[in-house]
Amino acid sequence: MSVTSAESGKGMPLHTKILVGLVVGAVLGLVLKLTLGADHTVVQFLNRYVAGPLGQIFLRLLFMVVVPLVFASISLGVASLGDLKRVGRIGLKTLGFFFATMAVSVSIGLLLVQILQPGTRISPETRAELMATYASDASSKVVASQTATFGIETLVGIIPRNPVAAAANLELLGIIFFGIIFGVALTMITAERARPMIGVLEALNDIVIKIVEIAMKLAPFGVAALIFGVTSRFGWVLLKPLAVYVTVVLCSLALHTIVTFPAILRFIVGISPFTFFSRVKAPMITAFSTSSSSATLPTSIATAEQNLGVPSKVAGFVLPLGATMNMNGTALFEGVTVIFLAQAFGVTLDLGQQVVILMMAVITALGAAGVPGGSIPLLVGVLAMFGVPGEGIALILGVDRVLDMARTVVNVTGDLVATTFIAKSEKLWSAAAVPVPGVEAGAGALDESPNWPGPSDVQPTVERDERSRLP
Ligand code: ASP
Repeated sequence: MSVTSAESGKGMPLHTKILVGLVVGAVLGLVLKLTLGADHTVVQFLNRYVAGPLGQIFLRLLFMVVVPLVFASISLGVASLGDLKRVGRIGLKTLGFFFATMAVSVSIGLLLVQILQPGTRISPETRAELMATYASDASSKVVASQTATFGIETLVGIIPRNPVAAAANLELLGIIFFGIIFGVALTMITAERARPMIGVLEALNDIVIKIVEIAMKLAPFGVAALIFGVTSRFGWVLLKPLAVYVTVVLCSLALHTIVTFPAILRFIVGISPFTFFSRVKAPMITAFSTSSSSATLPTSIATAEQNLGVPSKVAGFVLPLGATMNMNGTALFEGVTVIFLAQAFGVTLDLGQQVVILMMAVITALGAAGVPGGSIPLLVGVLAMFGVPGEGIALILGVDRVLDMARTVVNVTGDLVATTFIAKSEKLWSAAAVPVPGVEAGAGALDESPNWPGPSDVQPTVERDERSRLP
């Protein structure tokens, strides 16, 4: 989904247009708030008949795709693992590593957002007003009541009695559960039977991604309208918490990159973090400039093989899987954003709900496409699940471009760390195999493992993302 980087029409790239929309909407709203005041008839008229509907149209287009997108991406992701028995131990180990590192990254983000509390820097009056203004969002109300408590019922409730009803009520966990079971069952029937369904799911996935692309063409106006609604009612007061939120996301991403990854590399993989980072600069820079894990995939594979000496069978299996499923930066971003917006809207979340947020951040990161803004529609779904009005994304969409660039770097770096971890733990590679620049390539494979799954085992996922990639 070419959300923020596509050239849309003449000249200006879409992400610049969104930024312009944000500035124009914010400044216009501020000026009117400071000169006429929020209660002036003109301001109220603009909010009611211009900015309000425009913002709603944009939001509804995003909401509209949440159910098909989550279902198609999760079931395809699971099905693309192929026959779990065949991929077996290595596949499960790879997935386990993805889950573990994503859980650590979200935890870092959650910790920092709790310490700095960007959303609570809003006064109680403003918060009450925010909630009163936006709480009419029906979908958020429905689901808020379902997640008010966390207990055994919540766990049982994840299994939907009726997947269609779960979809109608935007019960994200229920849709995800159904998607997972559907994907697992898809791998258990004969390939001949499964093929048409996989084709349908791939097409569905591509179609909803196209719809998001169309919606994002409206983003400059949608964002302008939504932020106008915010600043014309609330003035400056929300801008400082937003700056703190951006700082929290960027600092958490930095911490994960300079603490978690080096710790894994040094103590588990046994390679110097300096050597590692000096060899993976190309994919990191590519990720930063494209904001797309999928677009960076070819560079990542070449780098893992040529600069790190990782055997191609490992790089060819772990990296494509990682580009779609292993998103450390995205998971962190989603966790922090949900908590920030919940704080901003005065939605209190108990510990149990925060654990659910951690889980949801990891699961939705698994389902997000590795393209610019790939996580935004899923994020909108998670917000609704916790009773946070979807309008909340207006606050963050304008700054998302820079966050997307940063989180994609972390996503791609996490994939490369995972590749060295798997290669090392399978005794197929060691730090000694890292080629020294200017010297003949390293030994690479140390051993031949007959059980190693081939890159074809993850083919559907790769194809899916290749197609949804920007030209
Ligand atoms: N841009 C991210 C990636 O491609 C996905 C996202 O978080 O939006 O890895």
